[in-house]
Amino acid sequence: MDMIAPEQISPLDTVSSFIRRDHGLFIDNEWQQGGSTDRLSVFDPATGQAITTVVNASEADVDRAVKAAYKAFESGVWSAMAPAERERILLRFADQVEANAEELAQIETLNQGKSINIARFVDVGGAPAYIRYIAGLTTKITGETFDVSIGVIPGAKYTTYTRREPVGVVGAIAPWNFPMMIGLWKIMPALAAGCTVVLKPSEVTPLTSLRLVELAHAAGLPAGVLNVVTGDGKAGKALVDHPLVSKITFTGSTATGKAIARSASDRLLRTSLELGGKNPAIFLKDAPIEQAVQGAMLGGFFNNGQVCAASSRLYVAREIYEPFVKALSDAVNGMSIGPGMDPTSQVNPVVSALHREKIMGHIASARDQGARIVAGGEQPDRPGFYVQPTVVVDAARDFAISRLEVFGPLVTVTPFDTEEEAIDLANDTQMGLTASLWTNDLKKTMDYVPRLKAGTVWVNSHNLIDPAMPFGGYKESGIGRDFGIHSLDSYSEVKSVCIAH
Ligand code: NDP
Repeated sequence: MDMIAPEQISPLDTVSSFIRRDHGLFIDNEWQQGGSTDRLSVFDPATGQAITTVVNASEADVDRAVKAAYKAFESGVWSAMAPAERERILLRFADQVEANAEELAQIETLNQGKSINIARFVDVGGAPAYIRYIAGLTTKITGETFDVSIGVIPGAKYTTYTRREPVGVVGAIAPWNFPMMIGLWKIMPALAAGCTVVLKPSEVTPLTSLRLVELAHAAGLPAGVLNVVTGDGKAGKALVDHPLVSKITFTGSTATGKAIARSASDRLLRTSLELGGKNPAIFLKDAPIEQAVQGAMLGGFFNNGQVCAASSRLYVAREIYEPFVKALSDAVNGMSIGPGMDPTSQVNPVVSALHREKIMGHIASARDQGARIVAGGEQPDRPGFYVQPTVVVDAARDFAISRLEVFGPLVTVTPFDTEEEAIDLANDTQMGLTASLWTNDLKKTMDYVPRLKAGTVWVNSHNLIDPAMPFGGYKESGIGRDFGIHSLDSYSEVKSVCIAH
């Protein structure tokens, strides 16, 4: 039997009983079993042990879920509901999440491996504010009126206006790094806009979505409006290819995002794609070392680096490069490694054995190509999916480690001599999700910001998000923006109305 180390918190009884459930698919407000007996094991990354299983949905299962969502959409039970009533239900959903926060946080940590502190304060702690922000937009969906100059019939008068109408059934495909939080980013604007949804969480982190959908229905969501199918990439593809799905909202890898875009192009399916990042952080010579290293730690190692926005390429002014590398390596070597359920451990397991192997492969290739590992670089000798936090130097810009998204606790550090060189290095990537600049020089800040090709640029911070602040990528980091007052736009069609009178 696994012993719980003294520092670890014990799961709530409700968490243990939830995990042990015979999990099904949530379709049309009821739990249904899959059409076949195919099931996926779900692991606790801290032990490497399977903790439960979920349905591996077939195409037929996805079809059932989409048809339930379509029926609900066409009935108008949600799309034609008064916006204030939709808003009220979504606000009650926020209350439900808040009331069950500790349970959700523990489920997330046990399934994803992340620190319970992050699960409590970010994944779950940030959810009610996000849900309420988007719920508030439900009552602010507007069109425009405008004068036209149509002169076909002399003297005829016209009144013209636009309406925003929900696009239909939305397929929401979520990743494994912030399973519940990003799941909400996918489903909330769709629901607020009046769409109905089929959510497919990642096959490795399905559990919080299965609890979340119950809370949404407890808040009063009508049957069929939000459905959850668990399954692997085939279920995601079945959702993308389903003719009754009108829009896909996706967060995940650039490779899968491109595959979705290719499938979508056949029938001009609407898509929003939030994809990977290989994000730079630039530290100018005036950046105080202590603040710079803290920033690099937060940007690079938060959530074990499994963050699309993470700063994984650090560019440091030559004048402060040596002390920066020394202080960063010392800080990284001083991090304690342990399970996410131990609130004092600073480095937790990565999400899966497969992902750990990928990260270790990146480290091996960096060594082979001639980069130097100055901190970490090994796989700790303990059960669970652990990787030491790692600092790499002397990585040339064409090395794989400088170009590919590692999505783990690893940063490269490179010196630069001039502003031109820093900008050139920072923008030398196919991706463009985020960037940060560390300086107190206002003039330099205003010079750099417009030149960085990224959807978000932070100054003296990294990884900070807010429901009001649009988030998404340049280049291969995606299409569209989550958050902000315009986030509902891509879940609706604009209808022009022209009345002759
Ligand atoms: P994927 O992009 O493959 O997975 C994201 C989601 O898409 C999952 O729900 C996945 O299902 C689903 N999916 C997989 N294949 C298809 C398909 N053909 N059509 C529709 N949906 C599909 O990411 P991975 O889990 O494989 O992670 C690989 C890399 O992606 C990471 O190492 C990291 O670099 C990056 N990543 C980026 C994230 C971000 O926030 N931008 C988040 C997670 C990963 P299933 O899980 O069952 O395969």
